[in-house]
Amino acid sequence: MATTRLLLTFAIYRLIVTVGLTVEPTELLRLGVDGQLSVDPADMETASLDFGMMSRTEPLAVFHPASAEDIARLIRAAYGSARGFTVSARGHGHSINGQAQATKGLVIEMSGLRGRQLGSGKPALPRVSEEESYVDVWGGELWIDVLRATLEHGLAPKSWTDYLYLSVGGTLSNAGISGQAFNHGPQISNVYELDVVTGKGELLTCSEEQNSALFHAVLGGLGQFGIITRARIPLEPSPQRVRWIRALYSNFSAFTKDQEFLISLHAHPAAQKFDYVEGFVIVDDGLINNWRSSFFSPRNPVKITSFNANGGVLYCLEVTKNYDDSSATRIDQEIEALLEKLDFIPTSVFTTDLPYLDFLDRVHKNELKLRSKGLWDVPHPWLNLFVPKSSISDFDKGVFKGILGNKTSGPILIYPMNRDKWDQRTSVVTPDEDVFYLVAFLRSALDNGDETQTLEYLTQQNRRILKFCEDAGIKMKQYLPHHTAQQDWVDHFGDKWDRFYHKKLEFDPRRILATGQRIFNPSF
Ligand code: FAD
Repeated sequence: MATTRLLLTFAIYRLIVTVGLTVEPTELLRLGVDGQLSVDPADMETASLDFGMMSRTEPLAVFHPASAEDIARLIRAAYGSARGFTVSARGHGHSINGQAQATKGLVIEMSGLRGRQLGSGKPALPRVSEEESYVDVWGGELWIDVLRATLEHGLAPKSWTDYLYLSVGGTLSNAGISGQAFNHGPQISNVYELDVVTGKGELLTCSEEQNSALFHAVLGGLGQFGIITRARIPLEPSPQRVRWIRALYSNFSAFTKDQEFLISLHAHPAAQKFDYVEGFVIVDDGLINNWRSSFFSPRNPVKITSFNANGGVLYCLEVTKNYDDSSATRIDQEIEALLEKLDFIPTSVFTTDLPYLDFLDRVHKNELKLRSKGLWDVPHPWLNLFVPKSSISDFDKGVFKGILGNKTSGPILIYPMNRDKWDQRTSVVTPDEDVFYLVAFLRSALDNGDETQTLEYLTQQNRRILKFCEDAGIKMKQYLPHHTAQQDWVDHFGDKWDRFYHKKLEFDPRRILATGQRIFNPSF
């Protein structure tokens, strides 16, 4: 207890000497927060870095809240102090470019509150309502823990990310996409209600009906309008198993035609469509056999050359069908009927079958493998783009068959989504076409003597990809965007900029929240 108080006093002292904070230490101590303000070196190190490992910013201190009210008290102090300090929520720190970091400010460590009370007298989260099919979760909860909690009730959320060790608040601040998005929309289209602490320190409940301007601003809002402390997520009965199928294409237009056909089935009954549609690009043999999971048998490796790849590039369609005991007898026929309509290389279908949880948690297995080889904590110069359907063929020619060469240093995902599943009232921006593709370059930089794997090489290649899009007039948008100049942000948001800007003035007038996104400078 004495140590905690000492650490707290030290953290406050640091705030005072570093930013000239005019809040008296005793005043901060009197805030009545139940959480812990920390300058512990381990906490500071964690908050200074992210998954990208390309930027380092040390905060003044790290705050471990004990409740949403704690966060509100802290932000009221930041908002009300004469000199001010910034506040960034950190979910699981899986950003690439320092988006959850804080210069001259505090990082609120959102993870780690699982199971605690949200406030006096309120039941602990996650809390599942079986009657109304939803779950209430803490904003810092990891999706893997949301899934585990809901599966206990035979229920599960509908829309996912490929990787589940991401926080609810972190993905809802972006969009949250995976192969279910064509059907259910991104995760931000699957939220009933939020509790949010605004940049003025107000703790508000918002939804379509209540405080709807805040609700829509926060979804895809890059943390600019408030800190999500609770989300109410709709659920569906959980399937038991997943049939997971991959098939190869050497012809890009056949590949995209089939992907677009499959996502056009979104309004069809469940039996007549897949539950998940993704895909990836393969430019070298190493990748096809190692890609994210040992899907293709290591004893019987797939050779890219054996599939007559056109220009050395293959495309892999990835689809799944969920099922349970009651539908197990029909699943083969349903899959056969769908595959019959597709134009992949006939000998190239690979199928596996696994429990629903194992499918959703598939990337974590690969994480463990990479960790064991020391290949996880390396720089990740990732680039995620939304490319309009009308330009995807130009993108293929210029990037997959051009700029990339025959070495990619990591997975490259490509899959289309239906724009009408994205609520245009949210803050996220997409291309202005009915169908657009996610193209994700998920590369790891290594210092292994191979020049094509270095951070400099991959960063330069990313720049060339962006320049190619600009020169070719491809009206793409960055997903998980990273811009450093305000004009680039204005261009990124396009028609939505005015609204974004005015909502910032309304909900975070001192611009203290999520400054790591580098959209606005704080007003002090
Ligand atoms: P952080 O990095 O901690 O924070 C991201 C931003 O959100 C910051 O600005 C932060 O201040 C803000 N923020 C965090 N918590 C809150 C909160 N509670 N309230 C308000 N703002 C908050 N994305 C996909 O869509 N689909 C994928 O399949 C996918 N796969 C991924 C796989 C890996 C291995 C990695 C590293 C990332 C992946 N992502 C994917 C990207 C991921 O969704 C984003 O990087 C997301 O922001 C990470 O969540 P986080 O909890 O780590 O957020």
